[in-house]
Amino acid sequence: MLREITDREAAAKAKDVDLKVGYQGEPGAYGEVAAAAHGGVPRGFASFEKLLEALRDGDVDEAVLPMENAVVGAITEALEPFATFVTEGMELVAVDITSVPVRLSLAARPGTPLAAVKRAWSHPAALRQCTHRLAQMGIERVVCYDTAGAAQIVAHEASTDAAVCSRRAAERYGLAILVEDVSDKEQNGTRFVHLRMADHARAQVSLAFLRTSSMTATGRLDVLTGATLLPLAGTTEYPVRMWVLGADAARLQALAPVRDVQVISLGQPAAHAAKVTPPRQGTEPVIKSLPHATARKAPTVVEVGPLRLGGGARAVIAGPCSVESAEQVMRIAKEVASCGATALRGGIFKPRTNPYAFQGHGLEALDWLVAAGKAHGLPVVTEVMAIDQVKPVAEKADVLQIGARNMQNFDLLRAVGRAGRPVLLKRGAGSTVDEWLGAAEYIMAAGEMRVILCERGIRTFETSTRNTLDVGGMLAARPLTHLPIIADPSHAAGRADLVEGLARGAWSAGADGLMVEVHDDPARALSDAEQALVPARFAELARNLALHPDARLPLAQLRAWVDAIDHDLGVLVQRRLEVAKVIGDSKRQTGRAVLDPRREAAVRRTYQEALPGSKGLADKLVDLLLEAAKAQQSIDED
Ligand code: PEP
Ligand code: MN
Repeated sequence: MLREITDREAAAKAKDVDLKVGYQGEPGAYGEVAAAAHGGVPRGFASFEKLLEALRDGDVDEAVLPMENAVVGAITEALEPFATFVTEGMELVAVDITSVPVRLSLAARPGTPLAAVKRAWSHPAALRQCTHRLAQMGIERVVCYDTAGAAQIVAHEASTDAAVCSRRAAERYGLAILVEDVSDKEQNGTRFVHLRMADHARAQVSLAFLRTSSMTATGRLDVLTGATLLPLAGTTEYPVRMWVLGADAARLQALAPVRDVQVISLGQPAAHAAKVTPPRQGTEPVIKSLPHATARKAPTVVEVGPLRLGGGARAVIAGPCSVESAEQVMRIAKEVASCGATALRGGIFKPRTNPYAFQGHGLEALDWLVAAGKAHGLPVVTEVMAIDQVKPVAEKADVLQIGARNMQNFDLLRAVGRAGRPVLLKRGAGSTVDEWLGAAEYIMAAGEMRVILCERGIRTFETSTRNTLDVGGMLAARPLTHLPIIADPSHAAGRADLVEGLARGAWSAGADGLMVEVHDDPARALSDAEQALVPARFAELARNLALHPDARLPLAQLRAWVDAIDHDLGVLVQRRLEVAKVIGDSKRQTGRAVLDPRREAAVRRTYQEALPGSKGLADKLVDLLLEAAKAQQSIDED
């Protein structure tokens, strides 16, 4: 334990400092500024090819590549090799974008008068940014591999040549600045993309490479409106090639089925990725002594039939505390499945505080649970308390649960780790986050990598709740592990009236899923009667989490579901009108036209995408909304 904490502190101290970020060029280049933008140690490479090879081979953790410049647009020198590596199968993700302001100085050896300068060295992309200014001054452009490299060359040669480079680079190599900024455009800047290997990071920026062998397919590319397109020269095989920055997933997917269009996506940020921070990517595990549980890798997605947890996939596991009878679990399975739960829980071996309390019906109940799951298309999750239960339970159950009381039963952890089933690992009521991850490591070291962490409340001085749901601990675990983390609000609350609030809190905090106890006759439940949600209340919760109901739900409840959506829609429409009004005010204040047909077209597309297959409806909604917005604006003007 002590060693683990020491490891973590060392890792925290090392934090950004140990991240190696590669760029193309010499120290002083703009790439170096981008590489250092988020901490990390910049390392220069002679070419973009060498830089990408270093990233592939793990010599650097991250690479920065210039994509776009305010004056000259696409930086083909970087985008071409980047495209080659990606089309050859290198799996990269874009994790960030950094804009670096660019001021291109004209610098020469001290004492050189401006009039004597006949040639200027620089990177071709930088030279393109000052084509006109240099021509006006009668200065010829000489291409070399880097802006800072140009400064180095000029410093070492006894000539009156100049370099086009940053002030930093000029100063670094002892040159005098003759012209502060020779860019053709005043506000020059370059956007750099930060790349990492896909197995070490998850995408935070939407970036894709697109190419097509057919000119006619380009007619379909209008769906990319709003994204930044960075074109490359066509080849015989692919006359149209480009990088696409900032397109949303739906738009890119819309292109995938178009014949002759090839889209290589460097990943889309997961819907809730912004709320939770995955482990910082790199090579060393976050906690050295926990190499599996805290490995710096892409989020683990645990998938069992319809149940998918992690990496943006979120789900709800629901069911009774105990499997009481074949009929009871069958009824409850139907209820939770109809509300959109994608796994069924139910205890057959119950860890009870009192030895005389109901202990579970044992293996016989496993058959009832499995039958209920099968009948309603749900994989089943059930707890094992002892090593000898592991084998028979693993034969039939889909996911093995380790209860809070057994979190540090190390022999049991090893046994479930060898059982060939995913494991749901509850956090012990008196265990720290590190101990929880240590328990996960036991399971993973034994061979099972599909571990679901479940926060279920810890014991505090508070007596008004059974436990205290530690959302903070859940969030603290998030940057340490790639494993999915779910919350169990039922055992945390110990009382039904608090379950929904806790569930929604954990969900908004970015939990990958929930486990909720549901009983259709709580008064008669054989265990945890006080905390069970009745099906109607579970339905309400599921509705709030935007799960999908099905036709097994009673009509009255389906109506309640749709009523709630209507209410939400009304509130959203109201908000839309309010924000549209503020936009109108802003346009008026800045002297811009309030009506903008191009924006209207974009809004229309947004609705059409959100309502695939209902173009007519999308159009009608847009017409209504725009009409309402205009009516509101003219009222204001009266
Ligand atoms: C359970 O989920 O049935 C259970 C006993 O939970 P915990 O181990 O979290 O108390
Ligand atoms: Mn319970």
